[in-house]
Formats: sequence, structure tokens, C-alpha cells
Amino acid sequence: MSHEHLSPALRRIAASPTTAMTDRATALREAGRDVISLSVGEPDFATPPHVIAAAKAALDAGATKYTPVTGTLHLKQAAALHFRRDLGIACQPEQVIVTAGGKQAIFEALAATVGEGDEVIVPSPWWVSYPQMVRFAGGQVVPLVTHAHHGFRFEAGDLDALITPRTQWLLLNSPGNPTGAVYPAEMLRGIAEVLRRHPQVMVLSDDIYAPLIYTGQPHATLAALFPDLADRVCTVSGVSKSHAMTGFRIGVATGPAWLIEAMGRLQSNASGNPAAVSQAAAVAAFEGPQDFLAEWRERFRQRRDLVVSAVNAIPGLSTPVPDGAFYCFVDATPLMGRFGGDDGKLALHLLEHGVAVVAASAFGGKDGFRISFAADEAVLEEALRRIAGALA
Ligand code: GLU
Repeated sequence: MSHEHLSPALRRIAASPTTAMTDRATALREAGRDVISLSVGEPDFATPPHVIAAAKAALDAGATKYTPVTGTLHLKQAAALHFRRDLGIACQPEQVIVTAGGKQAIFEALAATVGEGDEVIVPSPWWVSYPQMVRFAGGQVVPLVTHAHHGFRFEAGDLDALITPRTQWLLLNSPGNPTGAVYPAEMLRGIAEVLRRHPQVMVLSDDIYAPLIYTGQPHATLAALFPDLADRVCTVSGVSKSHAMTGFRIGVATGPAWLIEAMGRLQSNASGNPAAVSQAAAVAAFEGPQDFLAEWRERFRQRRDLVVSAVNAIPGLSTPVPDGAFYCFVDATPLMGRFGGDDGKLALHLLEHGVAVVAASAFGGKDGFRISFAADEAVLEEALRRIAGALA
């Protein structure tokens, strides 16, 4: 491929490390290798039958054509119900945009607003694509470094110290990928106070893991708790993680009308509407029964406990207990000498031993890796046995 044709924007980014590792694991499996993939955040549960039935019925009814670019009215109504019922955010269907996964919503919000030199505060360890999206848009990533001993959470004062007149966004992800950090309402209150002093700062609240909190506390989110800030918050959600619908590619976002309009303007020129059949399936997900979520959450909590204790029993590895989402962010500092201090080599070593994980450095961390525990117990046990063997 001819590099001189690449745009300056594209030159600033690399391929997503989570999807790259997962594609690699898939290719190895297709070549006959026995590889367990714990590299991607994707529930292993089957998509609920009522969702599948709705998708089939939609196809039979002709949902094979364009829809309005930013989503059908029915799905926007269902998403508004979801924002109100599940996240406590008052919103009207007109304030909703439907996207191809939460990823597209975040990309559009940043691409529609961030200009050369604008600063975006991103707590680290971060989800791999946040900094890439900021760089693609021409913005400066300002890392807000968090630490395991503080639950991978930042304090309001840490945020305040990084805000400048060029700060345009704060990215918030609770429960967080890759650490599972959860911000309770008290911590968000302090963050809200800082934001009130800096009216130029918008917040992108990525709430995609909201149903997966293991502490028993309710999900807390800025736009619900502090209505005076709601016109500066874009909240992103979806059905991928909650309803095991990753392949349907449906995300939803709500925020100020001007931002939702701008995101739609971009979407109308870039991708058009998300798949019509997927939108019909997402309506069923939001409007249908939600009782299985508690059961899935309990399964994930058991898997978390299994992985945390197995990881902490392997000499040289340690992980805190994540409060939410389905990832463990594993520290391997004592072992890094064997890999020349390069956790990418550590991840490749584990892949050689039949387990795909993603290096901590891909998330702005270091000396470790992320495990997704969205796999069944027997698979997780076998993966952990292989990891222990590989590092013995
Ligand atoms: N968000 C998931 C992950 O971190 C899906 C893959 C991706 O888009 O990064 O594994």
C-alpha cells in the first residue's frame, strides 16, 4: 500500500488493538490452532430469543430498506424509554441518535466538535479507541492517570488540575473498560462541581456497561444526577453488552439538540442509517423483558470472582476486584524482565500458549494485560490454566 496517499488524520492513528488481537485469534483458530479468545468484550450468552424473533419478523415485514438516517422513530422512542427507565435521564425521542454501535456515536461526537489543538481529557487506563478518535479529529489527548490502589478512579481535584481554556471534553466511562472502575454518585458530585466552574468542558459519558455493576449500588450518571449540566453531557448507551447483541451494531446517544444534529449531519454523509433489521431488534431489546439482565449480571459476577482468584493465585500476576463491566486489568510487573519490559511480547507469549488477551499498554497502562471474562466458566478455567503454564 502506498503510504503517501494517507491523510495526516489517518497517519495519527493505529488499528484498534482489541479488534486486531481478536481477528488474529480468529485467524489462528481458522488455521486449526486451539486458541481461547479473551481479547474482546463480547458476552458469550445467546441473544435473547424475543430479540431474534423480532429481527426475523422485521425481515419478513420488509425491513430491508433505508430508514431515516438517525434511526426509526420507534427505536428513538424505545431508546428514550431506556434512557429514562434504566439511566434516569429525561429525554425526548428527538434528542436521540441511533448509531452503528456505541463506537460510532463516540466517534461522531468527537469528530463533529474537536478541532486542531483542542484538548480532551481521557482517564487512563482508557478504552483503546478513545485516544485514537481524539487524535483522528486533530485533538490533543490529555491523560488523567488513575491507579489500581485507588480503584482506577480519579478525584475531582485531579480533573480540575488538568482543565485549561482549550479543554473541550472529558470522557467518562463508568463502569469502565478496561478496569471495571465504577464512579458512585458521591464522586460524580465532586466532578460536577468542577465542571460547573469550567463551562467550556463537555462530558462524553459512555454508559454502555451500566447494567453490569456488582456492588449492589445503582448506576450513577451525570446527566441524570445533575440536570443543570445535562445540556453539556452526551450519554452513550446501546444493546451490544447488555443484550448480547454486538453483531447487530446498534448504539444510542442522547445529548444537547445541537450536538445530536451535528452527529446526524456527519452520519448522513458517512454511513447513513444503521441496519433496518438491527433497529427492529433493538426496539425489542429496549421494550421487551429486562428480567434476564439480573441473572446475567450474577453469572458475570461469579465469573469475575473465578478469574480474580485464579489470576491472583498465579505467581507474578495480580488484579484488583473490578466493580463493574467484564474485564480484569491484570498487573504482571514482577514478570516483565522476561519480556524485556514489553507487555506486547507478554501478550504474544500468551497467544503462543493458546490464550488471546490485550496488552495493558494498548489501554494506556503498562506491564500487564486485560482479560475479558465474558466467557463461560469452563473456558475461563482452561484459559487460566494455560496462562499459569505459560508463565510458570
Ligand atoms: N469494546 C469492546 C472491547 O473493548 C469491543 C471491541 C472494541 O470495539 O474495542 O473489547
